[in-house]
Amino acid sequence: MPALATTHSLNDYLKLPIARYREQLKQGNAQSIEVSYTHRSKPYQYSIQLTKTSCNYGGHRYWWLCPKCYQRTSTLYCAGLYVCRHCIGANYGSQLQQPIDRLFNRADAIRQRLGWQSGIAHGIGTKPKGMHHSTYDRLVNEHDRLTSKIWQSTLDKLGCTS
Ligand SMILES: [Zn+2]
Repeated sequence: MPALATTHSLNDYLKLPIARYREQLKQGNAQSIEVSYTHRSKPYQYSIQLTKTSCNYGGHRYWWLCPKCYQRTSTLYCAGLYVCRHCIGANYGSQLQQPIDRLFNRADAIRQRLGWQSGIAHGIGTKPKGMHHSTYDRLVNEHDRLTSKIWQSTLDKLGCTS
């Protein structure tokens, strides 16, 4: 009988994004959110502490404080109790593992090979003379993939209430 896989991706766990409570949090000065649910036929009911930070352009945003390690996080994962991704000990999806700086660096490395000006804000350039079409297509696809990840990460950081 094959051994059970011991590594899990974060996608295997139920998620609780703070954004789900955005409307409720707009009402007042909440310091915690009470959750109640059933996990593996066991009922859970408790409060999760919150913290908030100011946004650059006014307003503020709320974060969970992980009930286990009290780190600030925007998403908790269900392991019976809801905890942060560090506490759940899962392998992060490769997407979560990559800090945005690394995405920028990889995009720039591709831009360099293509002879494009560095920085994704400069948009896309043309195919360099002498480069094979398939190589060019592959690099452009990879560049597109990195660019959309970068935008996605940027948008994720804009979850402010006002
Ligand atoms: Zn934690």
